[in-house]
Amino acid sequence: MTNQLTKDVLLGKSVEELTQWVQQQGQPAYRGKQLYQWLYQKGARSLSEITVFPKKFRESVAEYPIGRSEIHFESTAPDSTRKYLLRLADGLIIEAVGIPTAKRLTVCVSSQVGCPMACDFCATGKGGFTRNLKAYEIVDQVLTVQEDFGQRVSNVVFMGMGEPLINLDEVVSAVKSLNKDVGIGQRSLTISTVGISDRIRQLAEHKLQVTFAVSLHASNQKLREELIPNAKNYRLPQLLAECREYVEITGRRVTFEYILLSEVNDSPQHAQELIKHLKGFQTHVNLIPYNPISEADYQRPSQQRIEKFTNVLQKAKIAVSVRYSRGLEANAACGQLRASRSAT
Ligand code: SF4
Repeated sequence: MTNQLTKDVLLGKSVEELTQWVQQQGQPAYRGKQLYQWLYQKGARSLSEITVFPKKFRESVAEYPIGRSEIHFESTAPDSTRKYLLRLADGLIIEAVGIPTAKRLTVCVSSQVGCPMACDFCATGKGGFTRNLKAYEIVDQVLTVQEDFGQRVSNVVFMGMGEPLINLDEVVSAVKSLNKDVGIGQRSLTISTVGISDRIRQLAEHKLQVTFAVSLHASNQKLREELIPNAKNYRLPQLLAECREYVEITGRRVTFEYILLSEVNDSPQHAQELIKHLKGFQTHVNLIPYNPISEADYQRPSQQRIEKFTNVLQKAKIAVSVRYSRGLEANAACGQLRASRSAT
């Protein structure tokens, strides 16, 4: 195991920083641009494969850490969704998912190893928290999926392991790098959160053009605390007030996510409660029918219940879509693959 985490890895650096680095190695400045292209466009995994570099230079820096992970395990679902377990430099394992559609390739990235939020319906939450990811470890996930599919990534969603707003600085750096260095439009990047006090405002102050999604998952405070234990530190009125501030500061709308759990939060009464909270928001609600982790767990609602819930929101003129998790067979829900292969 190398100690890449404490060493100054190359991935995540700007073209100016890479130019500085090659000059420190006694090379001309233009090699910085070459390095930049090989890192972000060609997905180089080691400096020894950069054939435009002189052989002697390549050999002298062959062991220098770039910051790439290794694919530890990969599984493909019948709908072509690919789920990856990636081994980081310190041996820890994270998940990333590649979701292809007709013209797009979306990557679901992790922002932490594990997650401290402990949401009751989430496999990652049940596994505990280890550490935050560095920005380059987030960028690496996108490059890895891009390379494995042999197709450019068009969209990135921060909906894998972890709560992105706990790791705000590294997530913002990763967003900037994915935009500037990898070439993905900010509007094609989605940051999703269950809500951390004051952090929505802090994110707004960065004035990014990203899509911002808040996971409500419950229509009242009591139920929310049962599903998201950390919600007791951040009550619904405060969360919604910060969402309103986010809209004011950024001029961008907030999308709300709501996981549908059978007989828990999916009745027409719950839908009515939700409508009251969303008054005054120009919003879109994504309903996500639950992906069961095990038989003893929460259940996915019947199609009839999903439709009833959707109709109540639509009647109140709330834009709503139902988003089914892709790759159900490949354990595509957050944290499921790592949980099911924890012995590997
Ligand atoms: S749902 Fe998201 S925030 Fe909640 S425990 Fe899972 S990864 Fe963490």
